[in-house]
Amino acid sequence: MLKKCSVCHLSIDSEVVFCPYCGSSTKHKKSGNPCIFLGYTFIIASLMLFPPFFMVGGIVCGIYNMTKAEPVHGVVQIVLALICGVIGMVLGEIVAAIIIN
Ligand SMILES: [Zn+2]
Repeated sequence: MLKKCSVCHLSIDSEVVFCPYCGSSTKHKKSGNPCIFLGYTFIIASLMLFPPFFMVGGIVCGIYNMTKAEPVHGVVQIVLALICGVIGMVLGEIVAAIIIN
C-alpha cells in the first residue's frame, strides 16, 4: 500500500514510520507543513545556484512557517537562508574570479 507523505507529498509505503525522502514522521499528520521542507530545499539550493533568488525564497518560507505555528523552523530557516545565501554568493564570486583569470 502506498500513501502520500504529509510533508513532502511524495508516495511512500504506508507501513513506514518515517518518510524516506524528508525524514518526517508519518504518525503526526497534523504537523504536516510542506513549506518546512520547501524552505530547507531553498536554503540548500542557495548554496549551489542563484543565491539571491533562493535566499529570498528561504526567507519567505521562514516567515510563512513562523506564521503557521512553526516558529522554530521559521527562525532557523531565515537565519540559515541569510548565511547560506551569503556563502553561495561568495562562492559564486570565487568561481567567477577563477574562470576570468
Ligand atoms: Zn516526506
